[in-house]
Amino acid sequence: MNQNYIIENEWSILEEGFDAQNVTASESIFSIGNGVMGQRANFEENYSGETFQGSYIGGVYYPDKTRVGWWKNGYPEYFAKVLNAPNWIGINVRIAGQELDLNVLKITDFKRELNMKEGWLQRTFKAEFLNGNKVAISALRFLSMTQTEVGAIKYSVTPLNFTGEIEFTPYIDGGIKNEDTNYDELFWEVLDVQDTQGTAFVVSKTLKTDYHVCTGMQVQLELNSKKLNSNSTVVLEEKKVSLTYKEKISEGEVFTIYKYGGYVHSMNHAKNELVSTSKNVLSKASTIGFEKLLEEQKKYWAATWKTADIVIEGDVKAQQAIRFNIFQLSQTYTGEDARLNIGPKGFTGEKYGGSTYWDTEAYCIPFYMRTKDKQVARNLLVYRHNQLGKAIENAEKLGLTNGAALYPMVTMNGEECHNEWEITFEEIHRNGAMVYAINNYVNYTGDYSYIPELGMEVMIGIARFWHQRATFSEEKNKFVILGVTGPNEYENNINNNFYTNYLAKWCIEYAVENLNKLESDYNSDYTRILALTNLTSEEVESWSKVSENMYFPFSKKHDVYLQQDGFLDKELIPVSELSKENRPINQKWSWDRILRSCYIKQADVLQGMYMFEDRFEKETLEKHFDFYEPITVHESSLSPCIHSILAASIDRMPKAYEQYLRTSRLDLDDYNHEVHEGLHITSMAGTWMAIVEGFGGMRVWKDGKLTFNSQIPEQWKSYSFRINYRGSVLKVQKTQTACVFSNESDIDISMGVKGKTVIVPGNKSITIEEIAAVE
Ligand code: BGC
Repeated sequence: MNQNYIIENEWSILEEGFDAQNVTASESIFSIGNGVMGQRANFEENYSGETFQGSYIGGVYYPDKTRVGWWKNGYPEYFAKVLNAPNWIGINVRIAGQELDLNVLKITDFKRELNMKEGWLQRTFKAEFLNGNKVAISALRFLSMTQTEVGAIKYSVTPLNFTGEIEFTPYIDGGIKNEDTNYDELFWEVLDVQDTQGTAFVVSKTLKTDYHVCTGMQVQLELNSKKLNSNSTVVLEEKKVSLTYKEKISEGEVFTIYKYGGYVHSMNHAKNELVSTSKNVLSKASTIGFEKLLEEQKKYWAATWKTADIVIEGDVKAQQAIRFNIFQLSQTYTGEDARLNIGPKGFTGEKYGGSTYWDTEAYCIPFYMRTKDKQVARNLLVYRHNQLGKAIENAEKLGLTNGAALYPMVTMNGEECHNEWEITFEEIHRNGAMVYAINNYVNYTGDYSYIPELGMEVMIGIARFWHQRATFSEEKNKFVILGVTGPNEYENNINNNFYTNYLAKWCIEYAVENLNKLESDYNSDYTRILALTNLTSEEVESWSKVSENMYFPFSKKHDVYLQQDGFLDKELIPVSELSKENRPINQKWSWDRILRSCYIKQADVLQGMYMFEDRFEKETLEKHFDFYEPITVHESSLSPCIHSILAASIDRMPKAYEQYLRTSRLDLDDYNHEVHEGLHITSMAGTWMAIVEGFGGMRVWKDGKLTFNSQIPEQWKSYSFRINYRGSVLKVQKTQTACVFSNESDIDISMGVKGKTVIVPGNKSITIEEIAAVE
């Protein structure tokens, strides 16, 4: 059974009633972040029940020594773990001498809200103690999107039926651990713990990577909205600092603590200035004050939603889900810092190490590129360019030479972290996604400058990789790529994975095409790049031999490309014939059984057809969809969105809608029974694509032409989205009977709609039935 306790609402994620069973799931779902830090929705006060504590800092990691049974040459020494960082949100609360702990008290009127429109998290409830004392609690918290080193909490207690002493103990705790460690090591060393009246700091450093972090807090108290100047008792421990404030509060009065906290760290500041910087940052925040910071937060989110929002009428669950996906993506990565990226779990858990995967290039870039300023997507490309040197070293470790580059499957700083041989060495298709993303960016934004400035070098390294990684088969008289794992990780060490071979061929072709363009149009860059990379025309010619003669496994009988050599030896039994007890196969079956089966974890051949749709006829797409969809188990969150988009593009709306539902509420309804570990952030971008590219039928073709072929699920009244397109903002609204395109900028937009050329003049709307084709 999927979980079903999140209350439907268009703009908020809501939970009502306290159930200890849901605490860890809600800690994931109600997570908040601001692009540079993020945290699970842990309670401020102590909670003695099951909880998964997590607060994370973008880019700060620990290289956890690799643990592996059988060491293979070329394995990485470590896995970069996102660190559970010092806890700054903690406020222990005692009421008339007794601890407030939701796990032991009678809790009523519990309500939790993640307000996505305005970017805040609130909890309200009433607690009753054994002695009959009742209190009402309200805790409101946000991580500021505008002052990114600051988070703010407003925590209020009201005695409902007594007068007594209320005690707040805000603290910072540097003695935290990761749930996920290979050797149960501590990742942090605490260097200093200090306080001055109303403020406190813990300075710690990460072991091995030596990131220095100052975690700070500054507090203010209020009684019935009037400032209180109370003195605190300070307790300094080895790794923790607490300030305790006590006040006698009468029945009905509201006692409030404001806590400003967060991190400043050595990626952005000098190590010896962290405490003074933190003091300044927090003092500025408390001078601005909670309400004003919250106003700024609301403004920030209003601006974000202006372009990123998708409105769905007639289906509140779908509306809530798409906004949840957009909200989480927008608070995970804001694109100001090219050292940061998007981990599959973002700031919501430890799994996947918080590291960068091909998910960024294949899934996330399209979302950021179309809803934010183009610099945001460009910074994601720059991130990979900055790691080109490491990608070259990585390829060298695997025996490749001459500047060939292999980008890692999992990374924080450019070094490979993944240490399962079938992934580290074999899942090399990820390299192609780097080039796909460059092409996608340039086509969409029209910003070609990225290629001469930075992108060409990346493409050369990758073309060299494919050229060397392919081998010539005398038998086939073609180039083949042996010993790989495709996106479908339920096949390992296979030969001639269609997707990988296709990308390899295309990467070389695209590199050559761009070299030619640079030679004619950007000659000084061309000369600089040739010198930098020692590239000769002979070398380029030998790359082209590989791309021109690449082998693709094909079945004449089925008229489809095969996922790999020998695929038809498998027993092709549709997933629909597997009984429920067998699903998900990754939890129910032994690994060898999975490998021998025909079942596909995630889009593989179809991933390629999605990415290069312009190169395949509709009929070809249909044939491949009909062949592969029935044997795909979608046990990666990255899969249903691609199937949904393809289904829409071959006019199979019921299927498209079915797959869409699977992707959009994956976490809210916990389809995979793992939401307590964190959210599936990167696949959320796929959900966005499923609406815009799937139902909306938006495409940008090789020549930069924008086209739409919009459809609508019959369950919806209407949906609308906006995209940033080359300096204009275009709103698309689809109802059951019409499609309205509104140009919200001054520049005319030319596009194709269902095969006709249409011009939407600046600041005008066009309803599709009224359009006279201009052609
Ligand atoms: C998928 C990969 C993906 C990774 C992180 C895996 O389950 O098979 O394609 O990169 O998760 O999202």
